[in-house]
Formats: sequence, structure tokens, C-alpha cells
Amino acid sequence: MMDMHVHTYRCKHAKGTAEDMVKAALQKKIACIGINEHFPMTYLPDPVPVHDYAMDLNEFPVHLKELKTLQKKYRGQIDVRIGAEVDYYEPAINTITQWLEPFQTDFDYLYGSVHVVTNWAIDDDKFLNRWDQVGVDAVYSMYYEVLAKMAKTRLFNVVGHLDLPKKFKKIPTIDFDGKISTVLDAVKAAHMVVEVNTAGLRKPVKEIYPSRHILEMCLEKGIKVTLGSDAHAPEEIGYAFDETRALLKEIGFKTLVLFKKRMQVPVKL
Ligand SMILES: [Zn+2]
Ligand SMILES: [Zn+2]
Repeated sequence: MMDMHVHTYRCKHAKGTAEDMVKAALQKKIACIGINEHFPMTYLPDPVPVHDYAMDLNEFPVHLKELKTLQKKYRGQIDVRIGAEVDYYEPAINTITQWLEPFQTDFDYLYGSVHVVTNWAIDDDKFLNRWDQVGVDAVYSMYYEVLAKMAKTRLFNVVGHLDLPKKFKKIPTIDFDGKISTVLDAVKAAHMVVEVNTAGLRKPVKEIYPSRHILEMCLEKGIKVTLGSDAHAPEEIGYAFDETRALLKEIGFKTLVLFKKRMQVPVKL
């Protein structure tokens, strides 16, 4: 059992310290926990409330030090892996690259996630009115275009919650398989894996990210998957993993991937 997507109080919209998360994972008999806290994102444009989404850059080394201490403290009981969920935003790509640089050897893996298109976060209910202004199809369209660009940077190991725009059950009227296929081809070319994220089950859409249909496309293209709860509280660690692993087996996946120092480690499903 593994959970590769876990946040802490440091992002200011989650509760629990990193150690609280590790302890909760131990209780749930999880053998490997990856803490991929939101990477600082003050490079995002107004009016994105960046201080509600992540710590500042000057706090990040303190956070990393804490994770390294936990790795040692819990060695032999649970593997603690160090990641970060990076908010891809094309105009800031140079800043993102620069900010990641000093920590590159610390990371076991990096998530590339897109939450912000143009200047608003599609997964924040503060911006729900934007959906009507922009149009649901247009939001999905922009999102998948940005996601393909994210993969092409080759900065990241995992694509987080691939079909995030469905969170509020805003369903597009047109088919996006073509665009999704383009994203997946970019993901494959970049040797990235797709995250199976159970947080969607806790949201209005009540579905995992990505959908079964997209997971079938991944399998067909030979793209591997990893598993994360996107826990923002200790009790969310490992959320709905039994049913999700059963679903993945049913689709035909045989393994999951976890990461150690940016290398993919396959584990049996
Ligand atoms: Zn979060
Ligand atoms: Zn996310």
C-alpha cells in the first residue's frame, strides 16, 4: 500500500503536520507515504489567492528538513518519500525552474498539476462564476492544452488529477478524447506517469481522477499509474484505496509506480 499525494498544514488549507500524516499512514498499514506539499506559487497571477494555497518559498527548506527528519525517525516502519505538487503556469516557467533548482536533489518525485487557467483556479469554489463567463467547454479546452504543455517541459514525474475540471460536475458538451489523447502522448513521451487520485470521490463529481475511460486510454498507450489520496487531513490518507485498486485491476493494470530519487519503482497492485 502506498499513498503518493499528501499535504500538510503548511499549505494553509490542510490540517495536520507531516508527522501526523505519517502516523495516520502507519495506522492504515501504508508502507510508503509520499508527501508532495504544494510548492510555493506566488508566481501565479492576480486574483489567485496564492497565500491560501501554499507556503512561501522561504519556508520550503524548513519543510524539507522536517521531512528528512521523519524519514530517519520512521525508517524500518514506513518509507517517507519527498515530493512536491508544482502548479504549472506557463508564463512563470522560468521562475518555476529557478525555484525548483536548489531542491532538485532532495526530491523523490515531482507532480505537475494545473489548477490555474488564465488567471483563476478551476478547482476553487471562489471562482465558480467564471465557469459561466468563460463557458464549460472552453475551460476544458484551455485546461487540456495547458496540461500538454506542462508535460512537454519534462520537469515533472507525475501528472496530478488529470481531469480536474470535472470537480464541480461541470460536464462539457463536446468530446475531449482527442485533446486528452494528445495530453497522454505528451505524458508518455516525457516518461511521466498518471496519478489515480481518490479526492474526486470526496467532491461534487463523486468520481476518481481521472475517469475509468481515461484510465483505459492510459493502459492502451502503456502509461503507468501511481496512487494518491490528495489527503488534506490525516483521516483522508489512503481514502477509498481498496475499491480503487479493485477498479484498476478490473481495468487491467498489474502494477502501480512509486518513486525514489526520481526513479520509477513498480509495485504489484
Ligand atoms: Zn491542496
Ligand atoms: Zn492539486
